[in-house]
Amino acid sequence: MIVTLSRTGVPLRLSLMIVFLPLFYTPLSLSSQTALLILRHSAIPKLQYLTRVIDPSILCPLLVDFDSCIIVTITKKLKLPSSLPSAAQSILRLPIRFGGCGFRSLVQVAPASYLSSVSQAAPDIIHTVSLLSSTLPPISSYSSSDIIPSISSSAPPLPSGVSPLSIPMNVAIDWCIKLLSSQGVSKSLLPPLASSSIVSSPIPKLQRSIMDIIDTRLADTLLSSSVLLIDRARILACRVKRSGDWLSVLPSNYSLTLLDSHYALAFRLRLGLPPQDDLPLQCKCEVKLAPDPNHFLSCKLFRRTIVTTRHDMLVRSLATFIRAAGGAVYLEPKFIGLDSSGARIRPDAQVYFPSESFSIDGSVTHPASPYSVQGSKSSLAAAKLRESLKHKKYDDQAAKEKSKFIPFVMETFGGFGKEARLLIKKISKLHSDLATVPTRQNARTSLISRTLSILLQRGNALIQLTGAQFAREAAGAQCGYN
Ligand SMILES: [Zn+2]
Repeated sequence: MIVTLSRTGVPLRLSLMIVFLPLFYTPLSLSSQTALLILRHSAIPKLQYLTRVIDPSILCPLLVDFDSCIIVTITKKLKLPSSLPSAAQSILRLPIRFGGCGFRSLVQVAPASYLSSVSQAAPDIIHTVSLLSSTLPPISSYSSSDIIPSISSSAPPLPSGVSPLSIPMNVAIDWCIKLLSSQGVSKSLLPPLASSSIVSSPIPKLQRSIMDIIDTRLADTLLSSSVLLIDRARILACRVKRSGDWLSVLPSNYSLTLLDSHYALAFRLRLGLPPQDDLPLQCKCEVKLAPDPNHFLSCKLFRRTIVTTRHDMLVRSLATFIRAAGGAVYLEPKFIGLDSSGARIRPDAQVYFPSESFSIDGSVTHPASPYSVQGSKSSLAAAKLRESLKHKKYDDQAAKEKSKFIPFVMETFGGFGKEARLLIKKISKLHSDLATVPTRQNARTSLISRTLSILLQRGNALIQLTGAQFAREAAGAQCGYN
């Protein structure tokens, strides 16, 4: 039911919430992963409820402060630069499935939320107003601005005793529709709330439909306004399904938990910020860092060291899930089967299930690497390219062994290559078939994806920290400190 709070009550509730926000970033508070999950899933929805029941023309000016405080809270908790670029702020506010971080701006949500709420409650509102209509003031007491501008002649008539002017939220509805129209939402997509046909049945998932239009427009604007190819590649990679899994994981055990420093680095990567604010001008390999803030993820210096550690973590974890699904995994010894350049000539592991056997090779590719522009062309283009290279390298070998080869490719931003996604589904199904008690295959798929997503971000963070340390040491030597 739509309720009306007093104009003093709303600021009070908002002020209380704003007063409590510093608890999220005080030194003795929760880990970053837990705090930001609570912020996204509890603190913001708590106030989002107000947007469903209060005239947004009253609420929005007050929500501007709240939105700003949310950004400040995230910035302080993650120790991000205090003056975040507007593109980074937009990414923080976009939904995760649009490549953002899911900290919605309530100012943006309020009109759609209110309209959706009114649409749902319309039959009850009409019923209540018709009961009270005899006690409403005469029409002459309304100002001309209260009059609804368009009343469709073809719309069904309101119940007797109810005029459009009798409906208490007409002006607010009109305000919302005008605002949404200015944001690109076509009036034809909105319910006929501004007319007498408010009695029509509620539209299901109306808020989601309206916000999808607005979010798509914002995400596309973000992409089209990115001049650099590495930024375009990053934005496209972050929009891939499941690339933001690490953002939604509940830290219920070690394999699903990120240290505060690693969590902050994962955010910085998604926002397009450098891993640290005061890095030297160049990497140890002498590549300038300014044009490519996340250069360490594609730096050739770390390929046989910390990058291999990230790779091994992922392959070992995948092997654990395969064994849990009833498969046998033989991991190829690390220092055997290398060519003269030190590169492997055999895939990472042989997998045996009762019904089939295959070999797998894990790989992580960085779509926003300036060495390859594939990532800026389309989503998962970098993963697809890596998959084809792996097939070229190992398919013949697998055929000779009467087996088949599956490349397991992930992108640094969290996206899974097509064949990796299919393999995870296969493992999940086999696990469900093996289980003695009924288990949901989707839940297993989600667990595997989220565990690997967390491991990937942990590995990325180790590479970024190592790269930063090496760059500082190299810069120190150049300055004569060593
Ligand atoms: Zn480098």
